[in-house]
Amino acid sequence: MRRISIFGATGSIGESTLDLIGRDPEAYQVVALTGGHNVTRLAEQARAFKAEIAVTAHEEHLPDLRDALAGSGIEAAAGAGAIDEAACRPVDWAMSAIVGAAGLEPGLRVLEHRGTLALANKESLVTAGPLIMATAQAHHARILPVDSEHSAVFQGLVGEDIDAVERVIITASGGAFRDWPLEKLAGATLAQASSHPNWDMGQRITIDSASMFNKALELIETREFFGVDPAQIEVLVHPQSLVHAIVGFNDGAMMAHIGPPDMRHAIGYALHWPDRRDLPVERLDLASIGQLEFRAPDEVRYPALRLAREVMDAGGLTGAIFNAAKEIALDGFIAGQVGFMDMAQVVEQALDRLEGDASLAHAAITLDNVRAADQMARRTAKDLINAGT
Ligand code: NAD
Ligand code: MG
Repeated sequence: MRRISIFGATGSIGESTLDLIGRDPEAYQVVALTGGHNVTRLAEQARAFKAEIAVTAHEEHLPDLRDALAGSGIEAAAGAGAIDEAACRPVDWAMSAIVGAAGLEPGLRVLEHRGTLALANKESLVTAGPLIMATAQAHHARILPVDSEHSAVFQGLVGEDIDAVERVIITASGGAFRDWPLEKLAGATLAQASSHPNWDMGQRITIDSASMFNKALELIETREFFGVDPAQIEVLVHPQSLVHAIVGFNDGAMMAHIGPPDMRHAIGYALHWPDRRDLPVERLDLASIGQLEFRAPDEVRYPALRLAREVMDAGGLTGAIFNAAKEIALDGFIAGQVGFMDMAQVVEQALDRLEGDASLAHAAITLDNVRAADQMARRTAKDLINAGT
């Protein structure tokens, strides 16, 4: 039996992971499941999968979680510290599917305890890529990508020499507003930004897909995970979301990964790696799909992509600043404080204010420094929003 934990079990990726585990329950022993506000669902999952411990991120929900687990023998705990402790329980495999910078520390703990980390939480690599990769190396632990584009690149590199790679192309659906006229974007509402044409995901990543902040994070994720040069990484808008990534080699060959837009493919690949197993996903009929379209992204419509390139050039702690400012700008959009196109402006201005501080670009990527940069960026972005940027 493989011991596994899922961080962010009640979210979209967490539920999909449990869906796969639940198809072969004898093969897995579930150690920790963590969630946020929805403790009813967390307790249901913990009971169904006979977890050792269930942890909510929020202390105020602990009594409800305890009640919901009464008589089950399953431990209940709450708070970021408790999630961290749960991540120290040794496992063979863990899913990192918390949304946002909060996913970084549990991932580090898993790696320190030599667990294989299936990484959906791209924010870990954006905020602290060198730290997370070095932690994996120091503890001989493995990180497997779960983001669909990165899983696709990873699969495209099997048996290949990374030195023969010329370019890595990640695709983007273009999100909810890809066909909207540019002048209408400023007035996009929360409800409009929260529906994705192809993928069924958590609300935050769905809005980030509409603004391309998701793809911006993924550019940085690609650089950190595969160690390729920023100039080698390209984004292509591909409305069908069937080609997830393409690896271009020095002999001119391009290996494209085609698959259904169902995260259970990438999750299942990471779960069974290095094997391939039968997965409950649609088999595509390309003849009936007929056409696959590609076009270059428009950087006026999607300023987030330009910002990501600036962040990669600057390096150091700017990834942590970028991500934290983006999280606050997104909170502001969800709360109705800033408009859709203002999110990029808040992030750009936060970067401008903080990037001037050369110590940030050259600071070591330690957990303390990342936390400090994250907090500073959150304060700066909040000030900018309150000042009515
Ligand atoms: P989601 O919002 O559906 O779920 C997030 C999970 O994290 C929930 O369990 C929630 O309770 C928990 N959580 C939220 N804030 C927390 C905090 N501060 N501390 C601890 N736990 C917290 O999100 P999702 O769509 O499943 O995405 C999860 C991660 O996977 C994100 O990093 C996202 O970018 C990445 N990802 C998601 C998809 C997808 O299809 N949904 C695809 C690729 C990558
Ligand atoms: Mg992705």
